[in-house]
Amino acid sequence: MRTLEETLAWVAEGTALCRRAMAGLDETSLLPGWTRGHVVAHLAGNAEALGNLVRWARTGERTPMYGSPAERDTAIEAGARLPADRLATWFDESARALADAMAHLTADQWRSEVTTAQGRTVPAVEIPWLRAREVLVHAVDLGTGVRFADLPEPFLAELRADILARRGPANVPGVHGDPAEVTAYLAGRPHTGVTTTDGAVAEPLPPWL
Ligand code: ZN
Repeated sequence: MRTLEETLAWVAEGTALCRRAMAGLDETSLLPGWTRGHVVAHLAGNAEALGNLVRWARTGERTPMYGSPAERDTAIEAGARLPADRLATWFDESARALADAMAHLTADQWRSEVTTAQGRTVPAVEIPWLRAREVLVHAVDLGTGVRFADLPEPFLAELRADILARRGPANVPGVHGDPAEVTAYLAGRPHTGVTTTDGAVAEPLPPWL
């Protein structure tokens, strides 16, 4: 089971990984219909949205992640059209603000409950996990060379368990393969060498995250 300290370290690692993987922002990412700029704008908006949840945990005042799904999508579209240096600055500043805000939460505040954009009520200690998933998986989605195999295996193990729980184990066939490739498969991402228990090539799963 992941600790808070370990999860915060994954956030920092994923943030640095995204930063290094940011290049050619107007080129296509691995996510259908999104340029790399869309991915970066989504990550910057996500840091601000999760910052709202940190504020909620600190103050007790209800501050949801996003105003509405439409508002979120509009911000991604607008952000994706920013010049590359301004988009990178937005990514850096939003990530730093989120890290600072998380660094100042007390043990009691980490235990207080907040509601995610998907409507799940979770303790604030889940916020770093939500962010770690975003920065580490989208570092791969940028499509500039980061692979699931480059991500820390303890993170990948937590991710597999999380995705299985979220998809429902009954909706996912038993599969074999390299653990990093199995994680990519479960996340609905491009993968190689993953087979079902009877040796067939695993059918793609719908996208996730
Ligand atoms: Zn995302």
